[in-house]
Amino acid sequence: MILLPFFIVLFGKKGLLLTRFLFAIDCKCTNLVPNIKIFCDNIMSNNLYPLKFTPVYKTKIWGGNKFEKIFNRHGVPAHCGESWEVSDVKQSVSVVSNGFLKGNSLDELVEIYMGDLVGDSVYETFGNLFPLLVKFIDASDDLSVQVHPDDELAWARHNCPGKTEMWYVMHAEENAKLVGGFNRAITKEEYVAAVDNGNVHSLLNVIDVYEGDVFFVPPGCVHAIGKGVMLLEVQQTSDITYRIFDYNRRDENGELRELHTKEALDALDFDCVNNKKQEYHPKNNASANLVNCKYFTTNIFELDMPIERDFPEIDSFIIYICVEGGCDLEWDDNKDRVHIACGETVLVPAAIKNLRFFPEGSTKLLEVYIQTENNN
Ligand SMILES: [Zn+2]
Repeated sequence: MILLPFFIVLFGKKGLLLTRFLFAIDCKCTNLVPNIKIFCDNIMSNNLYPLKFTPVYKTKIWGGNKFEKIFNRHGVPAHCGESWEVSDVKQSVSVVSNGFLKGNSLDELVEIYMGDLVGDSVYETFGNLFPLLVKFIDASDDLSVQVHPDDELAWARHNCPGKTEMWYVMHAEENAKLVGGFNRAITKEEYVAAVDNGNVHSLLNVIDVYEGDVFFVPPGCVHAIGKGVMLLEVQQTSDITYRIFDYNRRDENGELRELHTKEALDALDFDCVNNKKQEYHPKNNASANLVNCKYFTTNIFELDMPIERDFPEIDSFIIYICVEGGCDLEWDDNKDRVHIACGETVLVPAAIKNLRFFPEGSTKLLEVYIQTENNN
């Protein structure tokens, strides 16, 4: 580690990564020495590339088996309710699974590559915290009825961001349903009375749900994902949920799951009524907007022929999630390709400005990035 100041002065943030790497090798990985040159060449030439991550699985009492069945994945735990694809939530940070950065965690990469990875204005706004969490949710039973706090309340109570989220429904069984908002504007008093009487569910707006449906869930909006729905969720980097009704279910120890009806009182927006599906108009071989808010922009990109796209105006990383078909990706002057199968996610660093897509037949990608006030 004696070389650390030297490397940092000479090579800046890349020197830091190089020093860390050499230190790791020195400590435990002497068999990796032949790879040092390749690694150093990549670091020095700033050869960032589309990153894939190892999924972080979460077992839940309502979890199912669709990640194995629909995505053909192996090694998924039983009752897996969530697969976190890109995450910087503490204890569940994503780790790179491809290329020379394999084994590095997302928080380390943001610290080292900063604007080159996330975009300069995104880095100025969000600092070292990667701002988005992308996950798949597989509900084989109803999820609890819940609400998330906004930034102000979450920072004050939990010292973390609040949670704005959006859903893209990938699979819905017959009669599958979601809850989005109350079914009429109610007062705080009516809500408290309903909690006391155990009939919160009578106040909820229940919606039939089908594949391809899109929902935007602002903080304060009461919501629930129903049995038989598998969806993709894009949200702020936050894991704060207030559970307000859980169908009186018991966990594996026979205990009722904890409710947060009191905490939810300050978070709930009692005017969030009849939250509807987002209307959108898919385009052939071009992307179409699904949701746009200050935390994220989500588009759907449907393609059935090779497409080249430049992104000079987007000062942000772009996340692609394949929700149908499959696709190869080439970038900048590179001739290497990264493959995205259905159910896979890649993070394209902000430094990459040109992408070439090679779909296998009809393919649908979700495209997620951030438009901060400075980079519109
Ligand atoms: Zn939620």
